[in-house]
Amino acid sequence: MIIHWFRRDLRLHDNTALAAAARDSGGAVAPLFIFDDALLGGRWASPARTTFMLESLRALDVAMRKRGSALIVRRGDPLAELLGLARELGASGVYWNRDYSPYAIRRDSAIKAALKEVGVEARSFKDAVVFEMGELLTEQSRPYTVYTPYSRRWRRRLAEVGFTVQEPPELVSLGTLPQSTAQHLPSIADLGMQTAQAVPPGGEQVGRELLHSFATAQGQHGIAGYATGRDQLALPATSRLSPHLRLGTVSVRECLRAAMDADEGPKTKGEANLSADGAAIWIGELIWRDFYVQVLYHHPHVLRGSFKPEFDQIGWENDQALFEAWKAGKTGYPVVDAAMRQLAKDAWMHNRARMIVASFLTKDLLIDWRWGEAHFMHMLVDGDPAANNGGWQWAAGTGTDAQPYFRIFNPTSQGQKFDPAGAYVRRYVPELANLPDSFIHEPWKMSPEVQRLYGVQIGHDYPAPIVDHAVQRQRALDLYAVVKKPSTAD
Ligand code: FAD
Repeated sequence: MIIHWFRRDLRLHDNTALAAAARDSGGAVAPLFIFDDALLGGRWASPARTTFMLESLRALDVAMRKRGSALIVRRGDPLAELLGLARELGASGVYWNRDYSPYAIRRDSAIKAALKEVGVEARSFKDAVVFEMGELLTEQSRPYTVYTPYSRRWRRRLAEVGFTVQEPPELVSLGTLPQSTAQHLPSIADLGMQTAQAVPPGGEQVGRELLHSFATAQGQHGIAGYATGRDQLALPATSRLSPHLRLGTVSVRECLRAAMDADEGPKTKGEANLSADGAAIWIGELIWRDFYVQVLYHHPHVLRGSFKPEFDQIGWENDQALFEAWKAGKTGYPVVDAAMRQLAKDAWMHNRARMIVASFLTKDLLIDWRWGEAHFMHMLVDGDPAANNGGWQWAAGTGTDAQPYFRIFNPTSQGQKFDPAGAYVRRYVPELANLPDSFIHEPWKMSPEVQRLYGVQIGHDYPAPIVDHAVQRQRALDLYAVVKKPSTAD
């Protein structure tokens, strides 16, 4: 018997370690999940993500039971639980899919060594990403730190080696598992958490259906329209697969396969280019995902400070009251407030909105990007140490192929460009819903008479801007000027 230790791979389809465990044991796989208090109560604990995870675990257990098996659930220190269960079941091996955060790497190497000592084979597999660790290196055998050459190499390598998508494995019934393994899944309250956020539904079936509908939809709401729609804040033009990719309820290779099929599939006149562009750009997002995982793997210091350490000299102002206004969606800049309220309500935020609010926090409010990073990890259902850190450092201009720090998003023109009719703002900031398009992104410009006309008193019903963008822009440039010579990454 082999134990498959589920972590961020909560699915049966195309699960590399699970398929290998089934192959090597003739289907005698003991599926295990361990609630690790170090993660549940860690610095990035998230009720939304934990809710999504619990629902996905419940779905996994149901799927297992349909195959004559059942998920074994434990809570405690992973090393102690694995050693205990391996002994109890007389397992010959423990298999799992790799994760790349510094915590996971430390934990897994200690577990590998301890299992080896007691004669249990421990094997880990690449699964969460398409290319991992040192698989893609520059000609100088160094890790890539710039996305564009990395993505070129990634696409070339994929064409060379290809990839496969595996079917769910055949499992044999393990009969009655030892009494101590038959535990119920806890509720979110059992784990000492609660959330008022509208967490999207979890589970493998939901994830695969979402992928299917995104990849096959025509028009602007699927991959075919991704090239044109993905930056429009009010459109449901992106896949919303991020929590599924985060917790592995869909496989990244299935995503890739679906995008390639969409690219090559039958097209009616006029849709061909749309689809090809959409699929290619969307695959580019999956490459960003791999890119940030390998940045974190090779440069774990990014979880504590700037990728380019000279940026740690910046003297952030870190005004607590401004931070609270940002979190509450009460900055007086409608697009920023809509985005922050989307996060609070839906546990998710549109990518363009993430860029806008991250720029606003760092360059308008002059607050350390790590404050924003931590808030996102707490609130996001898809909060991922690698992608989130990469996104924040990109926006702050402290990261890999840095957005030059002097490029500062103007929250008003970003709103006008990416939410031209104000539909996104109206959805999340109802007090502005009746404003005409001309004022929706700059309501402070309404005269008192116009405010009365539309029933919104600025400073009373909706805040006046908490900072002046033009003033803060210059102050940000002064603050960043302490970094005299940003190093240029290769
Ligand atoms: P789609 O547009 O459909 O993209 C498909 C998938 O590609 C996503 O599900 C995601 O897995 C991946 N992806 C897309 N863009 C990126 C990117 N820039 N970097 C890495 N992977 C990407 N993404 C997260 O998954 N978790 C995070 O915690 C996270 N934090 C972010 C913080 C900031 C400040 C910024 C600017 C971006 C962040 N992103 C994060 C990236 C991106 O915003 C989300 O992946 C995307 O909005 C998820 O929506 P979607 O699934 O509809 O994406």
